[in-house]
Amino acid sequence: MKKLSVLYLLFVLQITGCKTDREDFQTLEDRFIVASNLNDEYIITINEAQPRLANVTAILHPNGDIIQMNEFNEHGLENGWATFVENVQVNDKQGRSLKVKAKENSQWKLQGYKEGKINLSYSVRLGHDLLVPAIRGGDNGAAYRNEDGVMWAGRALFIGGKSSTNIHIKFNIPENWNVTTQWRKLKGEEKTFEVDKTKDLFYSAFFAGTHKHTELTTGNVSLRIAMSGKFTDEMSQKIKEQVAKYFEYYGNQYKSPLNAQMVLIMGDRNYSGGEVMGKAISISLSPETKKEMAINNGMTNRISRLIAHELFHSFAFDQLEVDDSDDSAPLYEWFNEGFGAEYGAFTALVRTGVLTEAEFLDEIIYRMKEYQNEVNGKITLVNAGNDKFKYSTTVYWGGLMAAISLDFLIRDETNGKKNLDDLWVYLLKTYPKNGEALTLNKIYDAALKLYGKKIADALRVYSNSPDEIPFFENAKLMGLNYENGKMTLAKKATERQKKQWFGFLNK
Ligand SMILES: [Zn+2]
Repeated sequence: MKKLSVLYLLFVLQITGCKTDREDFQTLEDRFIVASNLNDEYIITINEAQPRLANVTAILHPNGDIIQMNEFNEHGLENGWATFVENVQVNDKQGRSLKVKAKENSQWKLQGYKEGKINLSYSVRLGHDLLVPAIRGGDNGAAYRNEDGVMWAGRALFIGGKSSTNIHIKFNIPENWNVTTQWRKLKGEEKTFEVDKTKDLFYSAFFAGTHKHTELTTGNVSLRIAMSGKFTDEMSQKIKEQVAKYFEYYGNQYKSPLNAQMVLIMGDRNYSGGEVMGKAISISLSPETKKEMAINNGMTNRISRLIAHELFHSFAFDQLEVDDSDDSAPLYEWFNEGFGAEYGAFTALVRTGVLTEAEFLDEIIYRMKEYQNEVNGKITLVNAGNDKFKYSTTVYWGGLMAAISLDFLIRDETNGKKNLDDLWVYLLKTYPKNGEALTLNKIYDAALKLYGKKIADALRVYSNSPDEIPFFENAKLMGLNYENGKMTLAKKATERQKKQWFGFLNK
């Protein structure tokens, strides 16, 4: 690190000390040769007149003769993330220009490449938010522009080579712009960052512009928050308060091993949604949300749930080692989205007092009804993940119903001694990142170990049978009564039932 700063200083001194163009050129060339022995680096240039154009130059080592983007989750783009990339140019270390041939899956082959680092330059034109129909999964997982600046996902912007370490990213942006990202700020530099590995670029995001920036730290987790757009900005204080609340709740409830610098990017968009990209969370607020906020003069349940949902991914599922190769990833959609994140979010909301008990039950009933409409005797939670977008109701609300129904059953069976959150604590401890991989069978085995055969069998049936999940039936175990479209704690509920239900609410 120290060595690097000294060299940078030397460059600056040399460049400022230059007298002629020729010297200037030599200095730049020297700089490249010296830099070849140093870390990979990227310089991202965005100017105010054309904020949708990002010009990138990089010094890196190709992977064999290939350079590539992170094609994972390409959001249905026909040519993957490369769709918006233009003018890829490469010089080798002798300064020779190499022919670059675009290949499938956002890869480029460097013809005649022999060895050493290359000097790469390219542009990416931000059009991810202008597509009709809209980009699959939402532009908050790709890139967008709004009144305050631009949001970029790392996968939409970076072309990388061989996996590298301690990579520098420098921003060349308007004077009054700032950058909010999870990357480490280089000491003394406002707009230069460092990441440990290439992967940290590929699974990242940033907002650059005149947005509002705030930060918070809880335990081992630090979060930088970017808020852009008028409505998001108006809610900034409330967003921060709620995020802090969920951080504390999730940390305690799941004993999450999460230890990270994260970023949360929130902005006004024309739809509601969110996505997690490694340690970056991106959330959009829709016009409906904005209308509701104008009336409620603050946060809405919709946005609270969205934040809690995305944070759950970071605290729980994303901390697990899961066999999520292309073939098996769909099998876990219900477990991650509905059973995990929706259940985690709704329970966090009611247990931290963001939702009242009555509001919570109304929200659950509304979703149970939607889920019931999609039950057709064929789709199961597990196979719905093969078409997550078509069967999103089953993946999200079906998974949620499975979790709540199972939790009620566990509380009843164990007389309130155990609950569903114990499963997450156990899984996070037993299957942490880079350890043994979790499979569906191991989830059922964990349920067997923690709660016994009846519960493990119930979980198997809820997730693998196309029959409706018995939410209404299991709710009766908690003394909950469903009548005229409303669910309430029955007047006739027994003391035992009340105890279980208040246990669920953490009262
Ligand atoms: Zn999710």
